[in-house]
Amino acid sequence: MRYSRLFIPTLKEAPADAEAVSHKLMVRAGFVRQLAAGLYIYLPLGQRVMEKINRIIREEMNAIGGQEVTMPVLNPAEVWQQTGRWDAIGDEMFRLKDRSGRDMCLAMTHEETMTWLAAHDLRSYRDLPQIWYQIQTKLRDEARPKSGVLRTREFTMKDSYSFDRDEEGLARSYELHLEAYKKIYSRCGIRFSVVQSETGMMGGSMAHEFMAPSPAGEDEVALCGACGYAANVELAQSNPKPQHVLKEWSNVNYEEIATPERRTIDEVTRFLKVTPELLLKSILVMGEKGPVLALVRGDQMLHEKKLAKLIGPHRPAQKEEVKQFLNVPAGFIGPMGHKVRKIADPSLKQGAYVAGANKEGFHVKGVSADKHFADAEFVDIHAAAAGDACVQCRKPLNIERVIEVGNIFKLGTKYSVPLKAAYLDEQGAEKPIIMGSYGIGPARIAAAAVEQGNDENGIIWPFAIAPFHVLIVPVNVNDVKSMDVAEELYTALEEKGFEVLLDDRDERAGVKFKDADLVGIPYRVIIGEKNLKEGLVEFKERKSGRVEKVKIEEAVEATAKKLVMEA
Ligand code: ATP
Ligand code: MG
Repeated sequence: MRYSRLFIPTLKEAPADAEAVSHKLMVRAGFVRQLAAGLYIYLPLGQRVMEKINRIIREEMNAIGGQEVTMPVLNPAEVWQQTGRWDAIGDEMFRLKDRSGRDMCLAMTHEETMTWLAAHDLRSYRDLPQIWYQIQTKLRDEARPKSGVLRTREFTMKDSYSFDRDEEGLARSYELHLEAYKKIYSRCGIRFSVVQSETGMMGGSMAHEFMAPSPAGEDEVALCGACGYAANVELAQSNPKPQHVLKEWSNVNYEEIATPERRTIDEVTRFLKVTPELLLKSILVMGEKGPVLALVRGDQMLHEKKLAKLIGPHRPAQKEEVKQFLNVPAGFIGPMGHKVRKIADPSLKQGAYVAGANKEGFHVKGVSADKHFADAEFVDIHAAAAGDACVQCRKPLNIERVIEVGNIFKLGTKYSVPLKAAYLDEQGAEKPIIMGSYGIGPARIAAAAVEQGNDENGIIWPFAIAPFHVLIVPVNVNDVKSMDVAEELYTALEEKGFEVLLDDRDERAGVKFKDADLVGIPYRVIIGEKNLKEGLVEFKERKSGRVEKVKIEEAVEATAKKLVMEA
């Protein structure tokens, strides 16, 4: 391909609202353009990257017996009503009516239609197992489309679905996907970890997420370097450091202390000259069934999602609500008394604490679980933090920010029962099909690759998903000799099956090199007049910046050798 014929609109400036590196670079380097919030156009270079990612996904899905199908994006409401998700899903679903007034939606995932197909066309145990997949458009009216292609309202997903006779079959299909996914991300050249995750709106009994470390991610995972424990912080367990009790605090009596105007953990610890783990945080939230008092240690953070699993959606109570339900001024709540539901983190079972005294201007010391809030439910609601002990091996945990690039779910019969996807076993008995569901976001793989591979000058693509393998840059296109060498190299490498981009633009060297760094093609052959006089061309690796001089006669072979080693 010739640069002059290819549409690569590079930009000096990143979009004003872009924060994620991948967002800035993919726009600046001419891979994507934003049409509207969460709606992206893939330009030729972006398209090439996506096609490469999709090809790798296809190869690995086919290798585990996946069969590619295509489901309609436009869905009738009925299938979604049958599983209950028509009502369970809120504003995230794009809904519309057809010309005769029938309810329709734009599919945000395809469990419903895939299960519909299974219900109609899988009959006997002989038809099982099946793995069906597609790489196709999903639509979601995301609350906060952001970070370029990482969270968009229209995106491609590889989604697959497995259909098995029993749990053992499902375990096999799940394992096949787990292994295929590892191969896919490794081949795409991104760093990732596999973590335990919540089943969320998919339902089901087991789930894992594939997480690519990046500051642009919206998830956090807890990882143990020692034993390999890995979980999304939404469910990660941890043992916070034991309470470090000062001598004078080891045997305190229950006693009020005046703490005028000191409400926050920060204010109280400074005033009493104690560390935050000696404090007890009492947080009133409003759930759907009324107020709930959540209790965590002063140095711990309450995890909203862990609490939501117990009480459903909730929000912090307002001052007036604290007064109304607890009859306490905000900032001075303690766990003693109160008729509301109480949920305490198990780390509070040990130790004596300073807590609000349930009256203006006072705290109390010597508060303990057995004496003062034994009536609470003790459930893990703290967020695992860096340095907490691993629950498996007690070594310190790391917390990492990550991009979710894929996930796998054991669904069981959550969809097959309501949609009546059943099969007849050897005895002729009707049984529900056992299902799994598995997603990958190809755009997130591309963005994660950029997040993990870049420098101040631009993108550094992994070889396997780079838009081209090698860029040939004749510095002066008006020099006949330079162009002859460039064309020769171009043809020879293309004939060997490499993807070559020839920068045939009549531009200053500085412009060409800047664009080359920005676009991030892994290898570059630079043809300059001075080197040519000595019979040499330059070979440059984008990642390391290493430059090597190669004899013209050997340039094709030398370049081909490097590329083969990468491929
Ligand atoms: P998230 O928690 O990030 O919203 P999700 O749990 O909703 O993701 P799934 O519904 O399981 O994601 O979709 C499967 C995969 O599709 C995800 O792992 C992710 O890689 C990708 N994906 C999901 N939502 C988006 C989006 N809005 N834009 C781009 N890719 C997405
Ligand atoms: Mg989502």
